[in-house]
Amino acid sequence: MNPLTRTLWIGAALLAASLAHANDPAWSQPQQPFRIYGNSWYVGTRGLSAVLITSPQGHVLIDGTLEGNAAQIEANIRALGFRLRDVRLILNSHAHADHAGAIARLAHDSGATVAASAAGAKALRSGGDDPDDPQYGMAPRYPAVTPVEVVADGAAARVGSIAVTAHDTPGHTPGSTSWTWRSCEEGRCLSLAYVDSLTALGREGFRYSDEPARVEAFRQSFATVAGLPCDILITPHPDASGFMQKIAARDRDHAPAALVDTGACRAYAAAAQSRFEQHLAKERQGMQRAGR
Ligand SMILES: [Zn+2]
Repeated sequence: MNPLTRTLWIGAALLAASLAHANDPAWSQPQQPFRIYGNSWYVGTRGLSAVLITSPQGHVLIDGTLEGNAAQIEANIRALGFRLRDVRLILNSHAHADHAGAIARLAHDSGATVAASAAGAKALRSGGDDPDDPQYGMAPRYPAVTPVEVVADGAAARVGSIAVTAHDTPGHTPGSTSWTWRSCEEGRCLSLAYVDSLTALGREGFRYSDEPARVEAFRQSFATVAGLPCDILITPHPDASGFMQKIAARDRDHAPAALVDTGACRAYAAAAQSRFEQHLAKERQGMQRAGR
């Protein structure tokens, strides 16, 4: 791991630790939209990702960010020269307020269909009130999304020439989903991976280690993410993968390569798994102290 990567991972760990309760001002801080690669565009805020994938037949939007950011996301789409009503499909990483809060509004204003994993769809329809969520009772609610279509694990959600493949990566929430697609620029096509949060956060008293199936599913998610087609890694919290720093390096040095790292998903999964195993160890220590 080079020093920059190490710094980024330490940053990601601190971020993960602070995300449990924080509502970071950066989550609503305006961000000028920009091209990520080819027909993929960043239309989120400074601290929360939303990605627009465009085609002549219509567009796909991944994530909406916070409820109060809807107008910002819409303005960002328009600022790039796209029409909101051409957004045909909205996908979600996971059904927490910081990624799904604005989806009901964005779907209403664009007329887009909303789709997610089966468990993700259930949580979206409830407005984030999902008893199976480790953060149930603690995570803020948001406007319920209806209807929501289901995209099966490994299936592709399609609009025109765009195909975005769903990869179930449960753990942070039961419905957590990572999405991959191809974007091309001057004849060079790359795999983009929007990898969901892999942090283990729960309400007071929630223990992953109480539920072996949940632990097993989380570990499988690390393997899934490590194996994704992944030239460019994007995460719902851009800071979790140093995304904005990579964009800044690319633009400063006019070096497209700064954004491309075929090992990024593997490294991201490995770091997340090591944090998860530490989390499990702490849970077990806590149980021993409590005499359980
Ligand atoms: Zn979350």
